[in-house]
Amino acid sequence: MERPLTKNIRDGMEPLHIKDYEKAGGYQAVHKALKTMAPKEIVDLVSAANLRGRGGAGFPTGQKWATVPTDDDGPRPKYLVVDADEMEPGAFKDRILMEGDPHQLIEGLVLGAYAIQADLAIIFLRHEYTKVAKTLTWAIAEAYEQGYLGSNIAGSGFSLQLHLHISAGRYICGEGTAMLNSMQGGRAVPRHRLPHPTIAGLWGKPTNINNAETLCNVPHIVNNGADWFKGLSRCKDGGTKIYGVSGKVKRPGAWELPMGTPIREILEEHAGGMREGVNFRAVIPGGASTEFLAEEHLDVPMDYDSVPKVGSRMGTGTMIVLDDQTCPVGMVHNLEHFFARESCGWCTPCREGLPWAERILKDIEEGRGQPEHLRRLEKLGKDLWLGRTFCPLAPGAVEPLRSALVLFREDFERHIREKRCPWR
Ligand code: SF4
Repeated sequence: MERPLTKNIRDGMEPLHIKDYEKAGGYQAVHKALKTMAPKEIVDLVSAANLRGRGGAGFPTGQKWATVPTDDDGPRPKYLVVDADEMEPGAFKDRILMEGDPHQLIEGLVLGAYAIQADLAIIFLRHEYTKVAKTLTWAIAEAYEQGYLGSNIAGSGFSLQLHLHISAGRYICGEGTAMLNSMQGGRAVPRHRLPHPTIAGLWGKPTNINNAETLCNVPHIVNNGADWFKGLSRCKDGGTKIYGVSGKVKRPGAWELPMGTPIREILEEHAGGMREGVNFRAVIPGGASTEFLAEEHLDVPMDYDSVPKVGSRMGTGTMIVLDDQTCPVGMVHNLEHFFARESCGWCTPCREGLPWAERILKDIEEGRGQPEHLRRLEKLGKDLWLGRTFCPLAPGAVEPLRSALVLFREDFERHIREKRCPWR
C-alpha cells in the first residue's frame, strides 16, 4: 500500500532537511509544474484527482482554487493561507506531517500559490505547536536558500514570499474568516462569507485558505497524475487520509490509509482494538465536533459522503473512542467545557447557550440533575443548531451532545435517578 504523505516520516526520526527531501524526490513537482505547466493546468489536475480539503468540510480543492480571480489586471496582492491551527480535541494529524516532513508542506504550498498566482503565502500555526514552529522556521530558511521561495523560483519567473504566523491560539481561528480577522490584528470573530474570501479575503484581497494536509497531497498529484491519486483510494474521493485514534485502544496514534477505509478496520487493525478490561461503546469519528456512532455503524467507510449517511461526519478523520468504563455524561461535559470556553462570544445563542449546556451537564454528572434537565439540553441542541448561529462552531459543539442524549439516554436518566455518577 502506497503512503505518499508519510513515506519520509519514521517514529523518532529527525525531520527531513532539504538535501534529504530532494534525494527522496522532493521539489521535483515544483520544477515540473512551474516550468512546464500553466497555473490552470494545475487547478484542472487537482480537480481531476478529486482532492477534497482535509480540514473537515471536505470541499473540492481544485474547485476552491478555480474561484480565485486570475485575470492579469485583477486585484493584487493575492494570498494563500495555510490553516495549521489544529486545535480540536483529538486532532493531531497536521502536526505529524509538519514535524516529520516540513518541505512536503512547503512544496505543496508553492504549487498551490502558483496555481492561484499568489504573491504571499502565510502558514497560520497554532501557538502551542512550538516544535513545529522551530522545524518550519529552519525549513523555510532552507527553501529560500535553495531558491524554492523568493524571487524567480527555480528559474521559472514565478515569485513567492512565505511568512510563518504563530497565532495566539483560539479554536475559532479554524473558521477561515475569523482567522483572517485575527491576522489583520482584529478580534477573531467570523465574518460574513459574502464576498467569499477567494474574492475579498485578507486585507480585502483574494485569499485562498487550505488545510496543511490538503496541500501536502499536491506534489504527489503533480508528480504522479490524477489517475494514480484516485487509485490510492477505496472510494470516489482521491488519495490517502491520515486517520487518528485516541481513547482506550491498544495503540492510539495516526496512520496514513486509503481514503474510505472502514472505521472498524482502523480501530481493530491499526489501533489494535480495545485495551484489556474495557469494551468498545461508541466513537466520535471526526474530531470532537461530530456525532457519536455506535457498534452497528463501524463498517461504514471513513469518507466525506459515507459517514453522513449514518448520522455523523468524517470531519478531520481523527476519532475519539468511548469505552464502557468511562462515563458518557462526563465525556460530553468535558467536550462542552472546551466548546463553551472557545465560543468567540459574537452571537448570543452560542455565547450563552454553550456555558448553559456545560453547567447542566456538570450538575447531572455531580448528582444535582433534575428530570427537566434533559428537555433543556435537547432544546439547547435545537437552539444552537444550523442556521441559528453566525458560524458552525455552535452546531458542531452540540453534535456530540445531541447524539449522546439519544445513544446514552439511560445513562443520563440513571445519573438523575441515583443523584450520582455511576462510574465514580
Ligand atoms: S456561533 Fe459561537 S463561535 Fe460562531 S460566531 Fe457565534 S458566538 Fe462566535
